[in-house]
Parts: sequence; structure tokens; C-alpha cells
Amino acid sequence: MRTFDINKLVRKKVLAMQSYSSARDEFKDFYKDLIFLDANENPFENGLNRYPDPKQKSLKKKLSELKNIRENQIILGNGSDELLDLLFRAFCEPNRDSVITLPPTYGMYSVLANLNAVENKEIVLQNDFEPNVDLILKATDETTKILFLCSPNNPTGNSFSEDNMERLLADFSGLIVIDEAYIDFSSKESWLQKTEQFPNLIILQTLSKAYGLAGIRLGILYANAQIIAVLDKIKPPYNVNKLTQEKALERIENYDVVLEEIKMILTEREKLIADLNTIAFIEKIYNSDANFILVKVDDAKKRYDQLLEKGIVIRNRSNQELCGNCLRITIGTEKENRKLLEILKSL
Ligand SMILES: *Cc1c(COP(=O)(O)O)cnc(C)c1O
Repeated sequence: MRTFDINKLVRKKVLAMQSYSSARDEFKDFYKDLIFLDANENPFENGLNRYPDPKQKSLKKKLSELKNIRENQIILGNGSDELLDLLFRAFCEPNRDSVITLPPTYGMYSVLANLNAVENKEIVLQNDFEPNVDLILKATDETTKILFLCSPNNPTGNSFSEDNMERLLADFSGLIVIDEAYIDFSSKESWLQKTEQFPNLIILQTLSKAYGLAGIRLGILYANAQIIAVLDKIKPPYNVNKLTQEKALERIENYDVVLEEIKMILTEREKLIADLNTIAFIEKIYNSDANFILVKVDDAKKRYDQLLEKGIVIRNRSNQELCGNCLRITIGTEKENRKLLEILKSL
């Protein structure tokens, strides 16, 4: 195993700072029946008059059981987007450090790089949408703190090959973030259990896609305990609100429903792929390991506008690298997909 010195990766200022200590941090016995006169809250109970648990203990316990990982390897955020931002702020020195992203991919990585004044080295995926490992390693230097691998990748829909992932894990010296927002739809296994073996590996998951809770904003980051401790130090104390914690717990307790929905979405995906194959102006349907399909059409703008005219909103990804004339279609319910197909056939 390669040696891992987190102190070499964390920003100096972050390394030196103390975390803000909130009232609920100082007082640990959050669940005891006590009189709380410490946080200037309104004492009249309405279910939400108290600050939420800053460490989200119940939720982490549930996730730890579900995912078979220690609680000190988990940090939760207001969506994955907040966790991505925390990573930049913990590890990337503005106007000095760099990250590597692999377009076409999720847009937030480059937005956050810009926002945090961090150079974004873009290494375009190969024509088969696989990472170009040699170029990535060549582009890496001592300023390169994070490599973002989105697998299954948005918007292309494919999971990266295990060979490529393993080569990167073996040879990339900074932190590797595998964004697994779509892992629950994938035929490939999560890399979560590899955080044991690779101390620089970070796994990002979310309740926004397969779990059907985009509205509550809950992102989950798994990594070794040292990385989690750094992120815990700089996160806003009450970043995951009480309603979100409650709703997430409830959903995870009904995990069988989540699995059922995933199964239906996957069945619909296969049906939709077969059906889209019969549409003449669809030139290519890319393999999907996610809950959306990327298709190449004759004229993306025209087909996008036509669908919108008929009341169906999809995503035109044409302006992204390697995605000329490509549309991204999310798998809907059986009824929605039937309607989509009907309209496509009528164009
Ligand atoms: C949708 C998506 C997310 C989810 O972000 P949240 O802030 O958790 O809703 C993360 N990464 C990728 C690649 C996505 O497509």
C-alpha cells in the first residue's frame, strides 16, 4: 500500500484551525432528557424548535449498518454538492493547487473549481468514454490534489472499467473521488469497500437519484477516518437539517421499497432502449449503467424543441465534449416512457 500522509494534502490553514464549536457539539448527551438552555432556542416545542444533531448520529448508524462501513468513515452534507465544495476548501489552496476532471462529466466539479480559484485540468474521456489513464498521470504534479471520477458517468451513462480504475488507484498520488450518484442502477459493484485498502479513496453517494429524495438534499461521503475528520472540522455545524435527517432515516428503513423502485426503473430502461432502437432519427444509443440514456440523433436541437413542444423535457447535451447531437433522457414511469415513445414515433 502506498504511504499516505494526509498532512501533505490538507491546506495549511485548515490543518491549523480549530473547528467552530456549537452548543450541541459541546454538549454530547444530545439524546438525554435534559433542560436545554444553551443554544438560545425558543423553548416552546413544535418539533423543530431545536437545532438538529450536528453529527447526525442516528442516520450515520443506519448508513453504517446498511453499507457495512464504520460510522467514523461517513460525513453527510446538504446534497453531494456541499460535500464536493468542502473537498475543494479542505484540500485545494486557491490560486495554487489543481484538480483533474474528465469531461464530458458532471458540471459541478468545474463550477466549484472556478468558485474556489483552483485550476481544473480537463482530460477528455476517450471515444469509448473511458478515462485516458496515461494522460491523467502525465498531467499530475505536486499541485494536483484531487481526481474526480464519475462512475457511472453523467451524462455518458457508462461505468469506467475496473482495469482503468485500478491503475488510477495504484498510481495517482492525490485524492481520488469516485462519484457514485448512480451506483444503485449499475451492474458493477461500488468501490466503497476499497476505502479500507486505499487511504486516498473517497466515495460520494446521494439520496437524490435511486432513493427518490432529491428534495431533501442529502449527500454522503465515505472515506478513511482521517479525511472525514478534516471535513468534519470545516463543515457548517448544522448543515443537515432535522427534516432531512428524519426523512432519510425513514426511507432507509424502507430500503425494500427503494430496491423495488430501482428494479422497475431498470426494467423500464431495457424496454425503452429496445423501443428507441426502432426510431429512425436515433443514430446511436449508448450503453447505460444509470437511470438515464444518452442517445445520438440527427439534429439534437430540433428533436429537443419538438419534444418540448409536446410537453416532454429532456436534456440537450450537444455542447459537451464527445456529445455532438446527443440528448440525455431520464427513465420515467412506464406511462411516461410510453408517452415519450408515442411522441418520438409521431415526429
Ligand atoms: C445528480 C448527481 C449528483 C447529486 O448531487 P446532489 O447534490 O446530492 O443532489 C452528484 N453527482 C452526480 C454525477 C450527479 O449526476
